[in-house]
Amino acid sequence: MVSRVIPVDPFDLVVFGATGDLARRKILPGLYRRFVAGQIPETSRIIGSARTEMDDQGFRAFVAEAIAEFIDAKKRDAESIARFLDHLRYVSVDAKGDSGWPELAALIRPDVVQAYYFSVAPSLFGDLAERLHRHGIASPEARIVVEKPFGRDLETAKALNATLAAHFAESQIYRIDHYLGKETVQNLMAVRFANILFEPLWNARHVDHVQITVSETVGVGGRGAYYDKSGAMRDMVQNHLMQLLCLIAMEAPYRFDPDAVRDEKLKVIHALQPVAPEDIVRGQYRAGGPGGNGSSYVEDVDHRDSRTESYIALKVDIANWRWKGTPFYLRTGKKLRARASEIAVVFKEVPHSIFGDEEGWRENVLAIRLQPNEGMTLSVMIKEPGPGGMRLTEVPLDMSFAEALGEDGADIPDAYERLIMDVIRGNQTLFMRGDEVEAAWAWTDPIIAAWEARGDRPKAYDPGSSGPEDALMLLHRDGRRWREIRE
Ligand code: NAP
Repeated sequence: MVSRVIPVDPFDLVVFGATGDLARRKILPGLYRRFVAGQIPETSRIIGSARTEMDDQGFRAFVAEAIAEFIDAKKRDAESIARFLDHLRYVSVDAKGDSGWPELAALIRPDVVQAYYFSVAPSLFGDLAERLHRHGIASPEARIVVEKPFGRDLETAKALNATLAAHFAESQIYRIDHYLGKETVQNLMAVRFANILFEPLWNARHVDHVQITVSETVGVGGRGAYYDKSGAMRDMVQNHLMQLLCLIAMEAPYRFDPDAVRDEKLKVIHALQPVAPEDIVRGQYRAGGPGGNGSSYVEDVDHRDSRTESYIALKVDIANWRWKGTPFYLRTGKKLRARASEIAVVFKEVPHSIFGDEEGWRENVLAIRLQPNEGMTLSVMIKEPGPGGMRLTEVPLDMSFAEALGEDGADIPDAYERLIMDVIRGNQTLFMRGDEVEAAWAWTDPIIAAWEARGDRPKAYDPGSSGPEDALMLLHRDGRRWREIRE
């Protein structure tokens, strides 16, 4: 099945931070893929901007290199690259100075959709917003796209919201959480709200527990200085894992409309209970791992006494009618066994087994894979084939989106591509609203403050493992176990 491409209106998209890592790896190659898909209107322009001095040709050469590096050779060709590069311009500006802004103002057309992607450090968001305003560049309908991290606590998030609100209305602000752009995550809403099958079971009476896992194999890499001030709770749980939890737990919005969806997510965040210390396990990777010579977390961040977690697991309770009594177990970490993100909805046992205590018996699990191989699997019990009596076995009803929907199995747009096109369309459904981000910090802050006050040290874990031993206990003591982390 080939996916339909819905055209968008002509636009001027300015990418601030166009020479940076995110623009090079994701934003610019993603736009090329949208161009190849036929979604970039003929008169649209993509304007790169950063302090680096460059002309249009220099920027085009930079983008051509990024495409060569990040787009599979089978998915690119010289002719379409040349046509895509024709859409590119470059203006050098300093977010903190006034050079370049009049040139940018002269380039932007007032009569097309305007989008400004702030792919720069959050400390520059305010400067960019203020200068777009001061130089009369942004139209009243212009959209700005802001990257994570959105604050490091409630106070900084509120300050950032206030800074942006000084120049842009909430309807113009697109706070990116790229997890929400993943096909599977949106499918989660389709599965829940376009099928009658799951809704009657989607509650504490029938769901035993939910597991949300985002597991990475990489360490902190070059982000050590930033990461050590953040940690897994701020970097992953407060945004990505919380968003996933909201989509699983929320009530049906009255329609698929940005504010209706975000209102329902916000209610879930408000219903999250404080997390007790015994329901949190924090970890830090040791040295070693495959090959035996990997560096430890504290070496990677160059901070011997660091108490920042590179792994966290928590048991979260949602105090509302639907979920009271069904724990949500969240875990995320670096240098783990596999790179895999998954949501697993684990259903309860049948009330009475007419087959006796069958060896092979397992609960039904709806597993939603975010990466790699986006897809869903529903495990069901069937009779083991053959004459061996009534023996049960578990089989997966497996739907890999790539196989089921993608041309060639690989044409699912990357999250960034989809989200950028949503910005151009003016659809905020998959972007976080300011009050949502603040509510998420309001839940997160006291949890972090409590472990800081206790002076807790993260537990050490081996690189390539599935995290600290104590994280296993978090489920074992409830008579449950984590699903295996597999790629
Ligand atoms: P980066 O590689 O450090 O790039 C920063 C960009 O900002 C560069 O293009 C830099 O270019 C430009 N810049 C710096 N100071 C500037 C100034 N005063 N005025 C104008 N431009 C300036 O950062 P990044 O990794 O791309 O990250 C960008 C944003 O995305 C950050 O908010 C980050 O947290 C977020 N993010 C990144 C990733 C990722 O995978 N990289 C993932 C999630 C979120 P010049 O030096 O030429 O000015």
